Amino acid sequence: MDLDFTPEELAFRDEVRAFLAAHLPERLREGARNTPSVFVEPDIGDEWHRILHARGWVAWHWPKEFGGTGWDPVRRYIFEKELALADAPALSILGLRLVGPVLCRYGTPEQQARFLPRILDGSEKWCQGYSEPGAGSDLASLKTRAERRGDRYILNGTKIWTTHAHYADWMFCLARTDPQAKPQAGISFLLVPMRQPGITIRPIVTLAGDHEVNQVFLDDAETRVEWRVGEEGQGWEIAKFLLENERGGSCAAPRILVDIARLKQAAEAEPSGANGALGRDPELARRLARLELEALALETTELRILADQAKGRRPGPQASLVKLIAANLRQAVDELAVEIFGPLGLQLPTTRPLYGNAAPEPVGSRAAQLAMASYLNGRAWTIFGGTNEVQKGIIARQVLGL
Ligand SMILES: Cc1cc2nc3c(=O)[nH]c(=O)nc-3n(C[C@H](O)[C@H](O)[C@H](O)COP(=O)(O)OP(=O)(O)OC[C@H]3O[C@@H](n4cnc5c(N)ncnc54)[C@H](O)[C@@H]3O)c2cc1C
Repeated sequence: MDLDFTPEELAFRDEVRAFLAAHLPERLREGARNTPSVFVEPDIGDEWHRILHARGWVAWHWPKEFGGTGWDPVRRYIFEKELALADAPALSILGLRLVGPVLCRYGTPEQQARFLPRILDGSEKWCQGYSEPGAGSDLASLKTRAERRGDRYILNGTKIWTTHAHYADWMFCLARTDPQAKPQAGISFLLVPMRQPGITIRPIVTLAGDHEVNQVFLDDAETRVEWRVGEEGQGWEIAKFLLENERGGSCAAPRILVDIARLKQAAEAEPSGANGALGRDPELARRLARLELEALALETTELRILADQAKGRRPGPQASLVKLIAANLRQAVDELAVEIFGPLGLQLPTTRPLYGNAAPEPVGSRAAQLAMASYLNGRAWTIFGGTNEVQKGIIARQVLGL
């Protein structure tokens, strides 16, 4: 694989760089830097979404015919790397990276015309209704029932850990349409409007003090048959396509490398640790160097997957490999940050956001204030999108043939 960029690709990189310098406001960069959670809040995420949409660059995972950029994988990689280097807020993946590509591939022309433009302009938000209290890793045992009555489905059940359900206009949801069929065969993929009497959202505040996830109760909630994606019973196949994009659809390494660089700076600036400046501690330097090498190796793997995708291949089980490595690396970086800040790294601010005028005063630096909140929030990396054990199971079966 040729890892050198062509002159055209370098020109594209410069174009992206110039755009970010001119159009990504410092307020949004500061917000992104000081967000301890995986998902940014809508106050910064929505504005950034609108700016990118105005430039036509919001859907870099979509084909051109649906309003995406149509970029080849190298350009997508260059774009994501520049976003990371510029401290751009992460966009919500729920519409753009999860249900959007599903609709591009499996949606009817009517569904594509109804939903895709509103994902692109950010006017409709989405949440993911897969997990249930008794069905996470073993997703096929989900119990939410969708009963067909004329041109409607009536849904009953509950979904849990539903990220940003409190902001969502729509939920893409897996529900059992045929209770007699084998578990995987009886599931359908339904698009359900969130603002209706049959839906109740109960917030779940996590260990770090963030409200990102919820439990969603469906009590005779309704959706239209025309809003089912694919055939009845095809939901499992579509769910797996979506999960591959969730696990391996973008590049994790550039942001991890930026975080490691920031950690290095902090280690040099913060005079904490038992022996004074941790920045001069050889053991710390060794750990940082190791993390950096692992992140660079991950970057090469991600580039290889992108090269495969350029040939029309789906990420497949490689997505699990990347998800596993990236999740472990992110947690290792967060863990090291807490150690570097010593006692100051133990503070846990309970209000949000940690940027702007209303942000609580840090004890020590803002970076120290972020350490514990990021560490606790980041425990979720090895859980959502499928736990580490589940990814290892997939790798064992589908890559190693065990
Ligand atoms: C912050 C966050 C956001 C999330 N957002 C969403 C969302 O928006 N929408 C959504 O649908 N879901 C979401 N999830 C849910 C997530 O996908 C599930 O939590 C995850 O799939 C694990 O399921 P579970 O919580 O039921 O744990 P369980 O499946 O009960 O697992 C418990 C433990 O058992 C282990 N285990 C289970 N099965 C096996 C096995 N076969 N082999 C080895 N070990 C096993 C697991 O690895 C884990 O350690 C989110 C989760 C978190 C933490």
